[in-house]
Amino acid sequence: MSEFADPNWGAATLGVRAAEPRGAEREHSAALYLTSSFVYQSAAQAAAVFAGEEAGNIYSRFTNPTVQAFERRLAALEGGASCVATASGMAAILSMCLALLKSGDHIVTARTLFGSTINLFNNVLAKFGVETTYVDAADPAAWRAALRPNTRLLFAETPNNPLGDMVDIRALAEIAHRAGAWLAIDNCFLTPVLQQPLKLGADLVIHSATKYLDGQGRCVGGAVVGDAERVGKDVFGFMRTAGPCMSPFNAWVFLKGMETLALRMRAHSENALRLAQWLQTQPQVERVYYPGLPDHPQHELAKSQLVPWGRGAQATWSFGGIVSFEVRGGREAAWRVIDAVRMISITANLGDTRSTITHPASTTHGRISAQARAAAGVTEGLLRVAVGLEDVEDLIADLARGLR
Ligand SMILES: *Cc1c(COP(=O)(O)O)cnc(C)c1O
Repeated sequence: MSEFADPNWGAATLGVRAAEPRGAEREHSAALYLTSSFVYQSAAQAAAVFAGEEAGNIYSRFTNPTVQAFERRLAALEGGASCVATASGMAAILSMCLALLKSGDHIVTARTLFGSTINLFNNVLAKFGVETTYVDAADPAAWRAALRPNTRLLFAETPNNPLGDMVDIRALAEIAHRAGAWLAIDNCFLTPVLQQPLKLGADLVIHSATKYLDGQGRCVGGAVVGDAERVGKDVFGFMRTAGPCMSPFNAWVFLKGMETLALRMRAHSENALRLAQWLQTQPQVERVYYPGLPDHPQHELAKSQLVPWGRGAQATWSFGGIVSFEVRGGREAAWRVIDAVRMISITANLGDTRSTITHPASTTHGRISAQARAAAGVTEGLLRVAVGLEDVEDLIADLARGLR
């Protein structure tokens, strides 16, 4: 294993070079250690490794070289001391909560979360005595007002789904820390290439590696990133005991994915901005939601917390690949746009080379009440496109057909 990673390297270099695995064969490209267990030279060595007195792998539920390479590379990209890989993004959120919270604790989070995260908080954690309060993500005062003496965790996605509202990470970190709570950010939409929450004051970062870290829609996985105490000790200890771990095969796929992450995030963002600008000129489109548009309410906030390309006057920003827009004519008109596409995939997944389109009100947000949907801004005419890496002219032509 080559441990060398210069903390001053940029995201493209870290994605390619951080934690390059080097086995006994001196392989150039990361090897896949598809083994559940590891052997020892003697009884004494086995005892020493199990006791943590000697470095070494034990069992792939919690120590596997390929998974470790993934963890070290993601930790380097996020600027975190520790990372624990998990079986999925949901397993990452579950592991973080079960490792760090206890019965009687309280979570404050945003109303506009990923649907399964809301279900996890309401239907799973609530059974174990952890209560959750939902607030308006973009309003720091609402987060502050929801705090209780037992609040342990503030949890947010930024930008959030599906309207692309940005959360002020610096402000939330301050609110959390004054209350003796931790701030966790789900960084799935922007990845550490575009946003590094730990450097803005967050304590924990959650990933669904399923999305942009893979980048080609092949594997399900996740991760928790943070400091050596909470993640390196507590979440790792939970993983060792409870076991919702990442498969070495998936870790190998994600390692390959991370080598092109910086390149892809820039290309996704460029396509998304051009698509958003085109949508704004379409008479059938009522509103476009993309933080990269200058008239987006959090455009300046986004620029203040995203990682720029280049320095000083040369700095430019990328705002990720998710564009939402509202068509005139409600559900009927929105479904017409979806049913007219010939290339864009009709699916809710995102972070893929292939563009996808979804109608949030009847899919990702279909199981929540109409009232909650309205509060989240999910109208019947709203469509979400996760912009892929096709030529943007072809994406425009595919959407133009249904808008005509
Ligand atoms: C997909 C997703 C998750 C869950 O990740 P899985 O890998 O599907 O378990 C969590 N948060 C966000 C923002 C997501 O998009």
